[in-house]
Amino acid sequence: MKRLFILPLLMLLCLVPMLPAQAASKAEITSVRTATRNDANVPFVRTVLELDSKVTPRLFIDEDGKYVTVTLPNAKIAKNVEKKYNADRNVVSRISLSQRSSGTDVNIKVPRAVTKSDVNVFTLPGTDKAKKECRVVIDVNDKSGKVKQWMHWNDAKIGIDNTSLSSTYSVKVPSYSSSRSYKLTKGLKDKVICIDPGHGGTDVGAIGKISQEKNITLAISKKIADLLNDAGAKVIMTRTTDVDVYAPYDAAAEELQARCNIANAAKADAFVSVHIDSFSSADARGVTAYYNSKTPHDYSLAKYIHNQNMQATEFPDRGTRTANFYVLLHTNMPAVLLELGFISNPTEERALNSEKQQQNFAESIVKGLADYFNHNGR
Ligand SMILES: [Zn+2]
Repeated sequence: MKRLFILPLLMLLCLVPMLPAQAASKAEITSVRTATRNDANVPFVRTVLELDSKVTPRLFIDEDGKYVTVTLPNAKIAKNVEKKYNADRNVVSRISLSQRSSGTDVNIKVPRAVTKSDVNVFTLPGTDKAKKECRVVIDVNDKSGKVKQWMHWNDAKIGIDNTSLSSTYSVKVPSYSSSRSYKLTKGLKDKVICIDPGHGGTDVGAIGKISQEKNITLAISKKIADLLNDAGAKVIMTRTTDVDVYAPYDAAAEELQARCNIANAAKADAFVSVHIDSFSSADARGVTAYYNSKTPHDYSLAKYIHNQNMQATEFPDRGTRTANFYVLLHTNMPAVLLELGFISNPTEERALNSEKQQQNFAESIVKGLADYFNHNGR
């Protein structure tokens, strides 16, 4: 009789230390932001939650794959933080926060079923120096195929600055003032040229079999800088090492605006963004130069550089094309974005990792810049 009574009591005592410790203070969610990133192989919507102390998020996806829940144990929502967010509707129908006694759930409804391989949840140290802070990052991949790489900038900073809940932001094109005399002189000497090695740091860009885009773009860009310096130009680089220009794991618009700011602040005469292309099929090949005619000279810049690039490689010619890429629109000077072959094509990837092809492209880009100034300058 006595023994039977003691046993459950012992079990209960053993269980006590396993109960979750009730922390004196809960972690607080202090801000939430969402952004569409379309510079990865698969575009995705990123949701970032800032907290004042560390949490361990847990991911659940319902059977239908339409509801993604990320649980933040022991976390509460700060008073000024909104509970509903919009994002690119091709990827995410709605994001909402719900506080429960055990913590906060981040509920993400998606229009097309996802699995765990489509959703990436991780934590990062906070943006402030205080190490106890924590960021929870939730990435949901696009399953619609409607979000084009690089084509649909959409940075809804909802919850940060209380902007409207509209999920579609039109890209504002800086108006090129025709009254502003854009002086073009011949030669590279004393020209201020901004070279932008695509990606960097936490943003690796496209990934090949043996390399990452961010490293190839930096290698080629450094070679361009050396040649331009030799020619007497003043080179401004958006980055010279393997770093994010704005901040690790930042939103694409922040990152790209930071690059534009560097060029605009330096009052550069030309902006050259260096990228390596990628496609889902390994068959895609070739070199493209992208421009946007925001000034009378963007096309000319792209065309002269592209013509020289095609003399410097065996890669096919994909032409000089227009695009609404962020850095083309938000720089004040003529700008070009170069896609120097495909990292997803094994032959081109191998060549792009060779000293010879990198040097060839660096030389052709500098020749193209010289052609541009010499043909347009007076
Ligand atoms: Zn790129």
